[in-house]
Amino acid sequence: MSSKAHILIIEDEKSICNFIKAALQVQEYRISVAHTAAEGLSVITSRCPDLVLLDLGLPDMDGSEIIRKVREWSSLPVIVISARTQEQDKVRMLDLGADDYITKPFGTSELLARIRAALRHSNQVLTQGGGASTCYRAGDLCIDFVRRQVTLEGQEVHLTAVEYKLVSLLARNAGRVVTHDAIMTQVWGPYVEADNRILRVNMANIRRKIEKNPAEPQYIFTEIGIGYRMREETT
Ligand code: CA
Repeated sequence: MSSKAHILIIEDEKSICNFIKAALQVQEYRISVAHTAAEGLSVITSRCPDLVLLDLGLPDMDGSEIIRKVREWSSLPVIVISARTQEQDKVRMLDLGADDYITKPFGTSELLARIRAALRHSNQVLTQGGGASTCYRAGDLCIDFVRRQVTLEGQEVHLTAVEYKLVSLLARNAGRVVTHDAIMTQVWGPYVEADNRILRVNMANIRRKIEKNPAEPQYIFTEIGIGYRMREETT
């Protein structure tokens, strides 16, 4: 994975901008900065960054408008930087096409983890046409996507077909949050009822099978009111 990715920061608050810039430069990312939405859109089209960090509260346009415009023609990863802590705002951004969000105030390691996950995911989509990596590995958990086999400490874990679909969807998006609606649609199809009970029941069963302590999960984390995020792969 290239540490030389080009990252565009669209953020009007200078102090936050400088903090992010400093953190990313240490990692040798190339950085561009825009302080307005118009400037940001122009950098996106002229300089083709690999990833965008997007503040939602910009002076000239709501950040969600940028996501909408970019998604008309590009799958460029966008991570929303939000001061808004409302769950429905986060869900709205993710469903609009943002790859992830990070809530202010945030720490450097959290920011870097989000960036790595988003870049890795977009690299997989680019190089393998759909994130078709052959396995997922984190801690003692291993998922072989070819054999459709899940093992924990080397022992096979028996999952139902639906449980496997759910776990593999989250694993292919490891490190990124997947919303309830996105999971429901991709696992049960577009006509499923909006009620998430079936999802919660399946998730409880999965956790019983793969987590040492389902109340303190190590692999699949709950983003309350939003969705689930699977632990990043360890190498
Ligand atoms: Ca702002």
